[in-house]
Amino acid sequence: MAKTKREKNLKFIKVERMMKEDKITNFKNKREENEKEKSMKINKGVDGQTIRYSQVREFISEEDEKKIMEWARQAVIEGQPRQKLSKRVYDFFKEVIGNYTSIEISGTVYRMREYADLVARTTLRQAQTKGVLDSCKQYDNDLVEISSHTTDCNICKEFEGKVYSISGRHKTYPKLEKTPPFHLGCEHSISPTSEAALEWREKYK
Ligand SMILES: [Zn+2]
Repeated sequence: MAKTKREKNLKFIKVERMMKEDKITNFKNKREENEKEKSMKINKGVDGQTIRYSQVREFISEEDEKKIMEWARQAVIEGQPRQKLSKRVYDFFKEVIGNYTSIEISGTVYRMREYADLVARTTLRQAQTKGVLDSCKQYDNDLVEISSHTTDCNICKEFEGKVYSISGRHKTYPKLEKTPPFHLGCEHSISPTSEAALEWREKYK
């Protein structure tokens, strides 16, 4: 039986739609391929090469940062050695960034392991600070103290060994505006203190 004009039309529409869908899929595949190629290009043959910090930002998302932060939080709770987190961060970087040997951050070149260790140290400090502030809140403790190791770091000098009030309502001590780490790789930490502890120390020093 000969096909009616309507049936032919329907078939045409169907074929047309299939082609359109094909085009979309092809386009999608092509785009994915391009993206894959792009990331491969960056990853390929990079042993011995230096990546710039701005490039790193293309690989590491906010989610990744949160993940590393969560590792650090666990490490603080479990009292793990820093090396363990460093290794974890290093392996993760290797996985997402590739085999770059070093990274350049505002003119300074760090070995990848060194950089992973800096990130580990910094996130551990962040996690530690958060832990201290959380427990201060829980126990209604207002005063904190920044550690002191006679730093010669210009960023940290003004904070080192100082006592701050979290609420900012203390008559003697200023409000805590900035918390460690004050910069990448900062060694400073924060710890809870109290008027009694400070008085006691003053008396027996
Ligand atoms: Zn510092």
